[in-house]
Amino acid sequence: MRIRSTMADEVVDGGAAAVSAESAMPLAESWSSAASCDIIKRMAATRSSHAFQTDDRRLTPIYEKVLAGRRLAADDALTLYRTGDILAVGWMANSVRERMHGDKTYFNVNRHINPTNVCVAACRLCAFGRKKDAPGAYTMALDEAFETAASGYSEAVTEFHIVGGLHPDLPFQYFLDLCSGLKQRFPQVHLKAFTMVEVAYLSKRAKLSIRETLEQLKASGVDSLPGGGAEIFADRVRHIICDHKIDGDQWLETAKLAHQIGLKSNATMLYGHVENDEDRVDHLLKLRALQDETGGFQTFIPLAFHPDNTPLQHLPKTTGMLDIKQIAVSRLVLDNFPHIKSYWQMMTAKIAQISLRFGADDMDGTVIEEKIYHDAGATTPQGMRREELERLIRAAGREPIERDTLYRPVTRTETSVTVAV
Ligand code: SF4
Repeated sequence: MRIRSTMADEVVDGGAAAVSAESAMPLAESWSSAASCDIIKRMAATRSSHAFQTDDRRLTPIYEKVLAGRRLAADDALTLYRTGDILAVGWMANSVRERMHGDKTYFNVNRHINPTNVCVAACRLCAFGRKKDAPGAYTMALDEAFETAASGYSEAVTEFHIVGGLHPDLPFQYFLDLCSGLKQRFPQVHLKAFTMVEVAYLSKRAKLSIRETLEQLKASGVDSLPGGGAEIFADRVRHIICDHKIDGDQWLETAKLAHQIGLKSNATMLYGHVENDEDRVDHLLKLRALQDETGGFQTFIPLAFHPDNTPLQHLPKTTGMLDIKQIAVSRLVLDNFPHIKSYWQMMTAKIAQISLRFGADDMDGTVIEEKIYHDAGATTPQGMRREELERLIRAAGREPIERDTLYRPVTRTETSVTVAV
């Protein structure tokens, strides 16, 4: 029997219009009337304009939890990954997304700077890192990095996103000078710099504790950290895809220290390689637990694995179904993360746009010159203009909001760019 809860078709534009319990009585006899009335009242406060339906009875208790704003357990998350009913999962994720953000969809105008691709690690997931003398290896002199920053400045970027390889020779001072030099030249631009993996590596090179390393980076101008390098926390998977990186616990500990000294960060998960559903759930739950403790994560970014030009290139690419489901499950499980990002560079602009109806509320940014995923075969453009991002968001029936890195609204006029503080 197909289960259909009606909140339904009567709920128009914002759902604030009263829908009486009687008029919205569920069709499925299996619902007890008291419980269903309660659920319907809560549903009336959500904005979705059509009924929740599913053929998969395992989703019904999850649906009830989602409506009640109750936390999902590991078993629930596994069920979400394993059901074939992507529309039901999407309905739930969308209802949470709309409860949190309405139609608002965030993007920013940013520029990526990858100062070096030289890396001592040899992660099997990676097509970007090179040994020092390998063809294609590069390291920017500081002036070159400053010029690169300036070259993407025509749209008045509000963020530099800075990540790179683990260089065996560059001193810690290079990174401090890079950040202070950027701050000096572009004082109004937010520096979102260095993954937890880079921070841990720099601390070793500088013979400093992680906390001291973070404090010095912060003093040099770093405003927040991106969420890369998390991959999948499970040791079994990490041994296969990125054996030379810090382990999952060290990644989480570094993030915790960053949050404790007042640096916000994002968090990522690389999916679609050798991990299984349990590994993904474990990853999400560990992030959720740390967020309970620190509240320092802003955004969760599921990253689709791109196998081209990596030692894992025999693996197939992720499918649209998996990409969309990953967004939806993330929104439902990470109830304490303010934002879920569909990173258009990795999942294509079209899938990222559709995911705005499956739980995502952020499409990342203009990016300008992305290298890491393009080395791994991403076929998306290396950047997108602000107008195009806005067009994609509007075409999904959402409201584009330009934000800065900390999600403060940005207002642009012909002559100025203002961040609301
Ligand atoms: S994923 Fe990062 S740490 Fe690993 S090889 Fe690539 S650049 Fe180096």
